Amino acid sequence: MMNDVRLSPHLASPSEAALSHSSELDGLRLSPHFTLAEFCNPGRYPANVPTVQQVANMIYGCRLLLEPAREAIGCPIIINSGFRNPRVNALVGGVAGSQHLQGQAADIRPRAPARFQQLVAFLRHCEYTDQLLTGTGWLHISWAPFRPPRHDVRLGYYK
Ligand SMILES: [Zn+2]
Repeated sequence: MMNDVRLSPHLASPSEAALSHSSELDGLRLSPHFTLAEFCNPGRYPANVPTVQQVANMIYGCRLLLEPAREAIGCPIIINSGFRNPRVNALVGGVAGSQHLQGQAADIRPRAPARFQQLVAFLRHCEYTDQLLTGTGWLHISWAPFRPPRHDVRLGYYK
C-alpha cells in the first residue's frame, strides 16, 4: 500500500524521491487492470524504480488511455515496456529524452493479436494521446500530463 512506501531520506522533495524497491510496491495497482510491476518489470530490472511523480504519471496514462483502450477493444493489454530509468532505457536502446523515462509512455500490444487494429483505431482518436507510433502487432503510446497532447500519430513508424 502507498503508506508503506519508503522514501529515500537524502532527497528533499517527495516527488523527486526514488521509491525503494519492495514487493509491496510491485503490487501497487495504478488502475483496475494495471500494476506498477507491469510498468517496471522488477523481475528483470530490480533497480528500475520510479519516483512518486513518475508513478503519478503512470497512473495518468493507465486511467486516461490504457483502461479506456482495454475497454474499447474488449481484451487485456500487455505492456512490453513501460517505465525505464536511464540505465534500462540505454539497455533497450531507447532514445535520449524518451517519455518512458518519465512514466509517460508504454509499448503495448493486445493479448489477442487480432485486436491490434482496433487498439490503434481507439488510440489515434483518443483525446489524451500525445504520441502514437505503431510497429507490427505492437505500438508506442505516450501521454503528457503537464501540457496539451500533440496527437502525433505515425502509423508504421517501426519497420
Ligand atoms: Zn516506446
